[in-house]
Amino acid sequence: MRIDRIAHQSVVIVGGGFAGAVTALKLLERTEVPLKITIIEPREELGRGVAYSTAEPVHLVNGPSGIFSLYPDDPDHLSRWLVENGPAHGWTPPDEVGSSSPPRYLYGTYVRDELARAAKTARLCSTLRHVKSSATALVATPNRIQITTAAGLVVEADEAVLALGVFQPRLSPTEARLAGHSRFAANPWDAHALDRLVDSSEILLIGSSLSMVDAVASMEARGYRGRYRVVSRRGQFVEGRRTVEAARDFLADGGLPLSARELLSRVKAERRAISAAGADWQGLPLAIRPHILSLWQGASDHERLRFTRHLRAFWDVTAHRSAPESHQIVERVIAEQRLQHGRARILGFSTKKDAITVKLKVGMDVESVSFDGVIDCRGHQLHDWSQISDPFVKHLIATGEVRAHSTGYGIDATPAGDLINEDGLVHRNLSAIGHPLRGVAWESSSITEQRAQAIALADRILAKFTPVRVA
Ligand SMILES: Cc1cc2nc3c(=O)[nH]c(=O)nc-3n(C[C@H](O)[C@H](O)[C@H](O)COP(=O)(O)OP(=O)(O)OC[C@H]3O[C@@H](n4cnc5c(N)ncnc54)[C@H](O)[C@@H]3O)c2cc1C
Repeated sequence: MRIDRIAHQSVVIVGGGFAGAVTALKLLERTEVPLKITIIEPREELGRGVAYSTAEPVHLVNGPSGIFSLYPDDPDHLSRWLVENGPAHGWTPPDEVGSSSPPRYLYGTYVRDELARAAKTARLCSTLRHVKSSATALVATPNRIQITTAAGLVVEADEAVLALGVFQPRLSPTEARLAGHSRFAANPWDAHALDRLVDSSEILLIGSSLSMVDAVASMEARGYRGRYRVVSRRGQFVEGRRTVEAARDFLADGGLPLSARELLSRVKAERRAISAAGADWQGLPLAIRPHILSLWQGASDHERLRFTRHLRAFWDVTAHRSAPESHQIVERVIAEQRLQHGRARILGFSTKKDAITVKLKVGMDVESVSFDGVIDCRGHQLHDWSQISDPFVKHLIATGEVRAHSTGYGIDATPAGDLINEDGLVHRNLSAIGHPLRGVAWESSSITEQRAQAIALADRILAKFTPVRVA
């Protein structure tokens, strides 16, 4: 085993998707001491993770470029980067680039290139290195963190950050029947699986949110001209994002609600007021979003779980709308009467050579319908760390270095993101960012929240390294 000892002021980040890459970028940008940063990430490129690894140009970021700059003080940075670099990467920027939604592969290129630029121009001889492997074990002592990779490398550092993203659940026995079937795509980002479905006459899309929009856009781009049947448990259907002003800051009146019930009743009252005034309801989530962290952190676990059980699905479909450009494709397909959507529960699948028969419960009725293609668009995510089968996660839980959050979402941490071990002790040198913190800070998965977390995390780490100046 090779020991690779990093000198002082060293940070190791496990996971080089968006959250890990942006943390490294902010550390390099803001440091006043020499830093050695290591990112452990098995993917070839940093900054892409799951979301920005898709190569399909029709998979877009779900908001306008104007809100996704990596530098909140320079909101036009991404738009300028797109104008300069888009054409070289096969994308022609539209006139109103700030209000357009670029392809996700291009956004990943932006993150990757900005991180590379920050490393190249880093002050104080700071360095960044990418270890292309997976972390498998972690040992934390009060002053050092030691992480072992699958390749047998041991990386030691003063500080460590877990930016592991989100994990997939195991297939249910019902779903397992479809795995490997030639007419089944387990997700809308598997280009080869989608290629096989182009000659279908009717495709079942399971799930009706943003991943469903990716699936329709991909199939249309491939020349598919058959029908789609979209089913979801609640029958909600994602909407396209419209350009609207945030509604008035109604939650600031009279203090934030402390229960899910009070939150719901205040949101409903505001929704009625918005409708009566003839305004657009899409301003409502924009008014709620700045309060999410305070609402979540001010609520008891009981209320948080009531939110996740009863309101989460409504919040997700309301807050996470699709890019207008992608939504136009869905609207066209609906106008051509090729897409039908509704509430249904899947009871089971049976397969024949080129057909998948699905048993659906629609209202009180049970239907058996045959499709020649099925795409799973549920964007499965497993948040409960006690159930995740990934070896590193299992190791972290088994050794007690981290403990599952009491809500069943991610791991326990202080409100600032310092991780808490099995004995309830706060690590001084081990933090997390993004999805692992969902139990602590609910909306930890989107670009804008992760960008804010990365800046705060970088500043916290750097404050520990920076000598205090006296007059
Ligand atoms: C398809 C899709 C589209 C999305 N689109 C948008 C959007 O348009 N706008 C938006 O705001 N948000 C979007 N999101 C939300 C998305 O979660 C965030 O934008 C962001 O990409 C999450 O980054 P992350 O680094 O937390 O996770 P990930 O991107 O999942 O990155 C985690 C990384 O950790 C690595 N890793 C895991 N375990 C280990 C280990 N043991 N050792 C080393 N590395 C490890 C993985 O390889 C992975 O690269 C989208 C999400 C998905 C899935």
